[in-house]
Amino acid sequence: MKEIEKLGEIVVKPGLSEEELCREIGDYEVLIVRSATKVTRKVIEAGKKLKIVARAGVGIDNIDLKAAEEKGVRVIYAPEASKTAVAELVMGLMLCWARKIPQAYREMKEGKWDREKFIGTELKGKTLGVIGVGRIGGEVALKALAFGMRVLGYDLVRREEMERAGVQYVDLPTLLREADFVSIHVPLNPQTERMIGERELSLMKPTAVLINTSRGKIVDEGALVRALKERKIAGACLDVFEEEPTKNLELLSLEQVIPTPHLGASTVESQRNIALILSQKLRELMGVKR
Ligand code: NAD
Repeated sequence: MKEIEKLGEIVVKPGLSEEELCREIGDYEVLIVRSATKVTRKVIEAGKKLKIVARAGVGIDNIDLKAAEEKGVRVIYAPEASKTAVAELVMGLMLCWARKIPQAYREMKEGKWDREKFIGTELKGKTLGVIGVGRIGGEVALKALAFGMRVLGYDLVRREEMERAGVQYVDLPTLLREADFVSIHVPLNPQTERMIGERELSLMKPTAVLINTSRGKIVDEGALVRALKERKIAGACLDVFEEEPTKNLELLSLEQVIPTPHLGASTVESQRNIALILSQKLRELMGVKR
């Protein structure tokens, strides 16, 4: 905040609806948002003085990029800020699943001590499928390799350094068929929306676990609930949901689902990185000298 304050007058108004934002935005040159605020065409068109939309985070699927481009509004974000935070959450979720940590925690709090029930499995030797081997997916792959996992990757582009590190690139059906854990790291766009639906889930092993820390809409939640109920896959670790905050109690109530409330980038370090990267980019764009 201190860095951003050096750039000019800052007004903080969280939780505005689209209508309220349209009413407000006319006076401002820069709009800084997180993921919950939708920067729609209407908002951009209402921003008479608007020059820059800054997304304090990674995904920019909440911003109408076409409308911004048409109006000459620059969109900036901090894609490099959160890769460690999200990748560590993925490892945490995999370990939670494999060692039944949430279930053991709950029982201990209830005064129980049942060791037999919580015999887990090890990550070492298991296969992780990474869908989208970009900044975050690549980091997850490297961490999984360090755990002794076999890592399969699916992406539109192949990164040589990932292959050298040990990632084996395959097509999506092969990844889904062979992985014990499938972790999604593609951005949300028209090509990836509902990329994981009934057909894809049916290819996964009945013992496999789906992990989504990317965007909820990449997975067809209805198909996921059915696949879990029919035991077509064993479980899901979900940080993101079709709608947030999610109201999908059918999904949340399933014992084999480990949910977190969109915590991927929620670390002190990641938030600090986001603020520093954004203020640096804003300073450059606005021509502000220190
Ligand atoms: P990135 O752009 O570095 O990587 C995405 C990768 O997906 C790229 O390698 C790209 O080639 C690949 N890809 C794109 N479309 C594809 C397709 N149709 N099929 C196969 N591969 C495809 O992005 P990143 O920084 O790794 O972030 C990934 C996503 O993670 C973000 O878009 C965001 O939605 C999400 N995210 C979530 C949180 C959270 O809090 N849970 C935090 C940060 C980012």
